[in-house]
Amino acid sequence: MTKHYSYWFKQALEQEFGNINAWLDSAKPLQKDVNCDIAIVGGGYTGLWTAILIKQQQPEKHVVVIEKGLCGSGASGANGGCMLTWSTKYPTLKKLYGKEQAKWLVKESEKVIYEIEAFCNEHKIDAHLYRSGTYYTATNEAQKGGMEPVVNELVKQGINSWKKCDNSLADKAGSDRHIEGYYSEAAGSVQPALLARGLRRVALELGVEIHENTEMASLDYGSPVRIQTKGGAVFADKVILALNAWMLDHFKEFKRSIVVVSSDMVVTKPIPEKLKQFGPEKGAAVVDSRIFVHYYRDTQDGRLMLGKGGNKFSFANQVESMFNQTTNYLPILNQSFQKLFPKLEQSEFDYNWSGGSDRSVTGLPFFGNLKGQSNIYYGLGYSGNGVAQTRMGGKILSAMVLDIDNAWTRSGLTKGPLGHFPPEPFRWVGAMMVRDAVRRKENAEDSGSKPLWLDKQLSKLAGSAGKADKLAD
Ligand SMILES: Cc1cc2nc3c(=O)[nH]c(=O)nc-3n(C[C@H](O)[C@H](O)[C@H](O)COP(=O)(O)OP(=O)(O)OC[C@H]3O[C@@H](n4cnc5c(N)ncnc54)[C@H](O)[C@@H]3O)c2cc1C
Repeated sequence: MTKHYSYWFKQALEQEFGNINAWLDSAKPLQKDVNCDIAIVGGGYTGLWTAILIKQQQPEKHVVVIEKGLCGSGASGANGGCMLTWSTKYPTLKKLYGKEQAKWLVKESEKVIYEIEAFCNEHKIDAHLYRSGTYYTATNEAQKGGMEPVVNELVKQGINSWKKCDNSLADKAGSDRHIEGYYSEAAGSVQPALLARGLRRVALELGVEIHENTEMASLDYGSPVRIQTKGGAVFADKVILALNAWMLDHFKEFKRSIVVVSSDMVVTKPIPEKLKQFGPEKGAAVVDSRIFVHYYRDTQDGRLMLGKGGNKFSFANQVESMFNQTTNYLPILNQSFQKLFPKLEQSEFDYNWSGGSDRSVTGLPFFGNLKGQSNIYYGLGYSGNGVAQTRMGGKILSAMVLDIDNAWTRSGLTKGPLGHFPPEPFRWVGAMMVRDAVRRKENAEDSGSKPLWLDKQLSKLAGSAGKADKLAD
């Protein structure tokens, strides 16, 4: 099947090389055996941040990254580019890891936003990064008040960055549908593929050896670990698996730890004048309070991108069939777009695509050692919240692989998956039931009617999918 790349990835490669197709073929795969201290499999944000952070701490380490496509060709080059934090996940963090760690993780998740901005400035990565903040909004009466208990908790702990919006919300967030909202400046947006390609460049400059178009075919445990690719093997003292949902292709022990869920995206043609008049604030990320959220932001060249999660759940976690596709959900996205942005008068989109997210039971990523393998580390499960959090993942994995005892390695995130989904076919059938219940509930709420009790109960099972914890209800 021909790959359908995201709008961002195409734009980034065309900018880097002129012609995307020429470049796809020109990255030569590994063609000999190599030895190294640390091998990283997967050239997305997790793999690249980890490589960079290792080299920044211990430049003498020989680090090799292998990537089956091009760096950024996975979720890192296809996402919505909304840089969000875990502040709205504080109650879940507290439940899982205790109050002090939860407070620390909230603060760290905000800190990385500023760090990524500073990193891009320092290394001249022009990733169209706007630290313009984010609006978390309610678009119907039922969503109103949803954020308040979380914000109250954050205030109580002295870690709140959210402000309730006044009646300029609709103007600032770019849609009259927003009837309530909170704003935090610790957030923003980025052209995700330019960020991934920029990280790749910095990693190379720091001396990381990167082999693209080089797929791990198999991995043999031992010391060194042997990673076999078509053209050669990588022998490494330590290995980091930064494979996102593709982890399941090779390591079946994770097959009940995540479920692969689609996010579908559309982008308009350039409409800078209309956006100036009716669009959201430049660079701000806007998210509503649905479980399967709508999220949107503008682009540097004056387009509007709208995404929506939770449409397709992969059966038995097949991954490849979900990534790099056009969306099957154009009518749903179009309906959402027309409701949110009637003033933009866009009846069709310039581009669309779909990608798969590695959703964990808790909605948070998990890190650890492969079972019984003290020299093989992994990290996945970002659950659609990874643009900023993968830098935290890089901090965890780099500290783990360098045997550094610090708050990251001691954090609850390093204890592996904290929950399992039911086995197939129950998981898929259950996911479909819950998805459809969420849709019915949210449609009812949109039209001002009362959702069915059963739909409300089933929807609670998908609670961790939302961008913010829901304490009320
Ligand atoms: C459509 C979509 C929208 C999203 N929107 C947002 C958003 O707006 N905000 C947000 O915070 N998060 C968002 N996310 C989540 C975010 O993109 C991810 O959490 C993040 O990119 C994960 O980075 P990663 O490096 O772990 O995974 P990836 O970027 O997927 O990297 C894994 C890499 O491993 C490679 N690979 C796979 N198998 C092999 C193999 N056998 N050998 C070698 N390499 C291999 C893949 O090609 C891939 O490049 C979204 C995700 C998707 C899919």
